[in-house]
Amino acid sequence: MTTETSDRAEPLLSLSEISRIYERGDNRVYALDKVSLDIFPGEFVAIMGQSGSGKSTLMNIIGCLDRPSEGTYAVNGQDVAALTRDELAGLRRDTFGFIFQRYNLLETVTAVENVEIPAVYAGRSRRSRLERARALLDTLGLADRAEHRPSELSGGQQQRVSIARALMNDAEVILADEPTGALDSQSGDDVLTLLKQLHAQGRTIVLITHDNDVAAHAERVIRIADGRIVDDTGVVHRWPPVQAVERALHTGGFMSDLSEAVKMALRSLRANLFRSSLTLLGIVIGVAAVVSMLAIGEGSRLSVLRSIESMGTNLVMIRPGAPGLRSSGDIITLTPGDAKALQAIPGVENVSPERNSQMTLRYGSEDYRTRVQGVWPGYALARDWTMATGGFVTQSDVTSYAPVVVLGQTAARNLFPSGTDPIGKYVLIQNVPFEVIGVLSPKGATPFGSDQDDVAMVPLSTGFMRLFGRQYVNTIMLKVDDASKIDSIQTAITRLLVSRHRTQDFQVRNTASILQMANDTQQTMTVLLGTVAAISLLVGGIGVMNIMLVSVTERKREIGIRMATGARPGNILLQFNTEALVICGIGGLVGVALGVLSGVVAKTFGVSVAFSTAPAVLAFSCAFATGLLFGFLPARQASRLDPVVALAAE
Ligand code: ADP
Ligand code: MG
Repeated sequence: MTTETSDRAEPLLSLSEISRIYERGDNRVYALDKVSLDIFPGEFVAIMGQSGSGKSTLMNIIGCLDRPSEGTYAVNGQDVAALTRDELAGLRRDTFGFIFQRYNLLETVTAVENVEIPAVYAGRSRRSRLERARALLDTLGLADRAEHRPSELSGGQQQRVSIARALMNDAEVILADEPTGALDSQSGDDVLTLLKQLHAQGRTIVLITHDNDVAAHAERVIRIADGRIVDDTGVVHRWPPVQAVERALHTGGFMSDLSEAVKMALRSLRANLFRSSLTLLGIVIGVAAVVSMLAIGEGSRLSVLRSIESMGTNLVMIRPGAPGLRSSGDIITLTPGDAKALQAIPGVENVSPERNSQMTLRYGSEDYRTRVQGVWPGYALARDWTMATGGFVTQSDVTSYAPVVVLGQTAARNLFPSGTDPIGKYVLIQNVPFEVIGVLSPKGATPFGSDQDDVAMVPLSTGFMRLFGRQYVNTIMLKVDDASKIDSIQTAITRLLVSRHRTQDFQVRNTASILQMANDTQQTMTVLLGTVAAISLLVGGIGVMNIMLVSVTERKREIGIRMATGARPGNILLQFNTEALVICGIGGLVGVALGVLSGVVAKTFGVSVAFSTAPAVLAFSCAFATGLLFGFLPARQASRLDPVVALAAE
């Protein structure tokens, strides 16, 4: 071995007047005090000193995990102060390989996955990096331990894994901070032997130790005390043997970064399964609520509109009671005479007054209580109601006070349960016999749930004479010949009735306005439901942010390890954002499925449900946006951590 202080060689690492100052209250602690030091390619340097003398601080500055407070540090002649965070990450990734006293392996992944990390950040393909990681573990005698987690390995094995990791990107400089400190003497000797081999291959080694025996393995020993170099045995410089370093490194670009980030996110979610599922639950419930609530709201709106529309849009309804008051059947204002007078208004096609009352019908031994309705012949026409069998009330029935009745489907079914043809049979209403002349076709339920087929219709005149008593009606329904003229006809109706009654003791409405009103009400309802659901989604999002913040704090060390092995701030940002996105994405998908499922279940219970893609897409994108938004702050926090600070975290 030749000893020469080479004037020809350029230093690989050059520190000049480096200080690192920690502010402790009003005190300024000089962890390093004006340290100047050159390290040449191919050296094996041991840095020795008491605990607290500043060795680790020096090592962190050399490895670009920390920045000096004063002085300049150059790597290969390049002043690191001028480098961006990404360029520093590049140095840590490709030039330096770290070996720590406490190994600093990721606990949640296997040995081989730990080893490959620097190559992940270098953008090397999965196949080639796994191949290399396995080969490295193989040469370090860990072939059969590749798929084990760090917790399943001994200290010496873990340290060898971390050495393999340091070699992954073929680092020129190996920085080892008390690598044998936590090992038994046999394992410690193995590690030192390895370091010597690496040195023999041409690598520059910087070894920190407080142990003389360990330092004895090095060519050059530098002693520091209280942040100052107190002794340096000098450069024993040897040109590194020429070595063809195979650098199959390339940056894989955003897509490969992203796919790595997604894989890492899934792995970390799996590692914290319980916590992840709780977070997921928040998003799932939020999204499911949005999807199902909007479907139910929309379903109810459509069914209300459909049933109002089925009544026809050219109807005008007159009910007793002054406008603004709730109409009540007991107000005695509208008479059949009003109805007759209204027939004279031009454009009115059909006038149909009606009177309702609950009464008990009897046929043989069957009693059935239903709504008995006094009508004019125009009623069936106005309601577009056809007959199942027989005929409807006729004009001559009305004029002759005929005791005839037309049954709705429900009433007919209940009075004639045995399936007897009701036509021609006599039923008793309030003990008055009425002949059944027809059965109406089924009409179904109103949006408010009442059965329209639960009815029995008699001529209005007969009803007044035999059943209802006083001569007033509950409703007058008019059908106009042209729906577009409905407003002017409505005005004419009002004017006529006011002149007959001398006051407005009635209300006039048309189906178009009812339709509008119902639509508005239902829309408000849908918006309300949607808002409640959106709030629950927001709460879910805050849950995600909370978890990500906890996760950043908890995983500072992981972040530090990743940065020390070459992760750029962008990689960390992407990783944490991706985790939030993956949570929200999975939560969104499961939520949409659950929302649809609960909608389907609600449907089987008779709730009207209308699914459309818009709410599902909306809710899913909201969940995704939530992930992006609420993941970003914690992710940025993580990416801005200083490597040395992150590494020091517990
Ligand atoms: P060594 O590795 O030689 O044991 P260090 O480099 O870790 O010593 O520490 C050198 C000095 O700097 C010690 O006095 C230590 O207390 C101080 N120090 C190290 N890190 C910090 C920090 N983050 N904040 C404040 N003081 C620190
Ligand atoms: Mg230390």
